[in-house]
Formats: sequence, C-alpha cells, structure tokens
Amino acid sequence: MRKWLNEKDPRKLEELFGEARACAIRHVGPKVYFRGIIEFSNLCAKDCYYCGIRKSNANVIRFAMEEGEILECAMAAQEMDYGSIVLQSGERQDEIYVRFIEDILHKIKAATAEKLGITLSLGEQTAETYERWFRAGAHRYLLRIETSSPVLYKRLHPENHFFEVRRECLRTLRRIGYQVGTGVMIGLPFQTHEHLVDDILFFRDEDVDMIGMGPYVPHEDTPLVSAGHDPAENFRLGLVMIALTRLVLKDVNIAATTALQALDPSGREKGVQAGANIIMPNITPTDYRKFYQLYNHKPCLDENARQCRSCLERRIQVAGAEIGYGEWGDSKHFSGRQKNSI
Ligand code: SAM
Ligand code: SF4
Repeated sequence: MRKWLNEKDPRKLEELFGEARACAIRHVGPKVYFRGIIEFSNLCAKDCYYCGIRKSNANVIRFAMEEGEILECAMAAQEMDYGSIVLQSGERQDEIYVRFIEDILHKIKAATAEKLGITLSLGEQTAETYERWFRAGAHRYLLRIETSSPVLYKRLHPENHFFEVRRECLRTLRRIGYQVGTGVMIGLPFQTHEHLVDDILFFRDEDVDMIGMGPYVPHEDTPLVSAGHDPAENFRLGLVMIALTRLVLKDVNIAATTALQALDPSGREKGVQAGANIIMPNITPTDYRKFYQLYNHKPCLDENARQCRSCLERRIQVAGAEIGYGEWGDSKHFSGRQKNSI
C-alpha cells in the first residue's frame, strides 16, 4: 500500500484503478447506487479545526430546515427514483433535536411506504439515541473516524473531542444493528502515507460495511487553513485510497464523495473508475446550500436536485457504469456479516 500511495506514473495508476474497478464489479456488482443527501442544518455544537460550519465560525449564517421541507426533499428523492437518502447535519445532542429526528424518520417512512432507505450522518450520540433512531427507521449510519491515528486526531480537534468516543460510537452502532460506515479525510495537514495505510487497516479491523472518505479541502475561516495544501496531490491520494480500500475490503460500499469533485471537475466519475460504487447527489434546496460549506469551492451550489440528477447520470454513463435506480443497494459486506452471525 505504501508503494501505491507513492506512485505518480499515470499508466501504473490506471492499472491500479482498473484492477479496483474489476474488483468492485466482482464483489458488489457493476451498478452505482445513488443516495440523495439532505444537509438540513448547519447548527453544530462542535469545533473541529477543519470544518467550515464549526461552532466558532461567526461568519456562517445558521439555518435548520423545517420538518415539512425535509419531507418534501425525501419525497422528491423517491420521485427521482433514488433508492435511499442521507440526512446530514452539524452535531447536536439535545432532546429537542433527538426527538425532531425521531419524528421525521417516522414521517419519511410513512410518506414513502417504507420504500426509501435512510442513512443518518449526525455525529456522535448516546447509545440510547442511536437505538431510538434505529427503531424509528434509520438503518445505516455514517460516522467518519476522520483519522485512525489518535495522535493526529488530537491535532485536528479541541481538547474535548475524543478519538476513543468516536470509535466507541462506531462499535455501538454495529451492536444496535446498523450498517456502519466510516472514513477519513485524505491529505490532512500533518498526515503521512503511513497514517493512510493504518486508516485502511482500521476499516478492515473494525469490520465496517461502508466507506465515505474524501480529500481534505481547506476552508478559509478555520484554524487549519494556514497549514499548507496541495490539491492535485490530495486528489491523486483520494483516488489511490479508494482503489486500495476496494482491493483490501472487497465487498463494502464505497462512496465517491463530493470533495473529490471540489478538486477535479470529473472527480466523482474518476472515483467510480477507481472502485467506488456509491454517489450522493445533493438534494438540499438550492437556497440553503451556500450555508453548508464545509470547505472552499464546494461544487453544485447553484444547482437544484433535478439538475444534479441529470448531471450525475451523464457522468456515470461517461464512467461506463450502470445506475441502480430505485434500489437500496445495501452493503454486501453487511449481508455477509448477518449470515455469518446466524
Ligand atoms: N457533524 C457530523 C460529523 O461530523 O460526523 C456530520 C456532518 S460533518 C460536516 C461530515 C463530514 O464532513 C465530516 O465527517 C468530515 O470528514 C467532513 N469535512 C468537514 N470539513 C471538511 C473539509 N474541510 N474537507 C473535507 N471534508 C470535510
Ligand atoms: Fe460539526 Fe461535523 Fe463540522 Fe465537526 S465535522 S464541526 S461535528 S459539522
């Protein structure tokens, strides 16, 4: 893995990506599945040093979509034949928020005749909260570990953010029965190739079902912005990480994330060609998108959900893959894990 992370020869890299795409076809099939992502609130109680919506960024206009607006987005996702949605926001643990999510899950399930798969990406919560949301209808959860190195984690977060708590959350989610997704940022300040190798081993050892990782992209209003950044190198590393993760983990779902496209206009289709099989089209109403900028140059800020759909459809066709419309596209790794535990 170390050798490949150092590889700069485009022809050799093409070989690696080709192997990884073939491995994806063998283990998870030729299709790419869409998860419409609704970034419904940028209110956040945390202060991660890399994130544009961290609570100390006073330049952000804060928003929280109302229940009706979120429901409309979920219905639109179903109309566009996306099999699943992702609900994502800043992190809050207060009871009003926990109840709000619980209610909205019930309502989305009822309004879509239980046909829409629901993934949550709402940060660290108590086991009780995760259980309530699971019972209300969520079945997948994305919680990036951000880096598998506790030492690097400390440099990227304030004192009251803990690597061990985050890792424990992943284990709790798994115990409850979620399909569990994690991931890291690639090209972080102070991050070495050794860290990235360890990240892939962490995914393997934690036996996760889904991976959502992407390049780190600086945001001008964050403490980390001055630490230096090489976009082209981060993009290359982003693709190599997708390919290596596919070759090591084989049957997990891997997302080609939006941050790839922030660094290269064809970023997401290149992610698919390097072994990813999930794409998360943004279905957040256009008016809110500018307030959910985790990093600079976030793409698709002026588009609406339908424009995103046709744009992505074209991109996937160019990448030579097929789209699994209307399907949940669950992680094959998760079904294998279920069978083994029976
Ligand atoms: N608050 C939840 C959490 O942190 O898990 C979910 C939302 S958070 C915005 C989702 C992900 O955005 C984080 O896990 C982090 O990896 C990513 N992110 C934040 N800032 C970023 C940046 N500057 N570049 C790339 N990804 C970033
Ligand atoms: Fe909040 Fe998540 Fe951003 Fe951290 S990464 S500041 S928890 S939104």
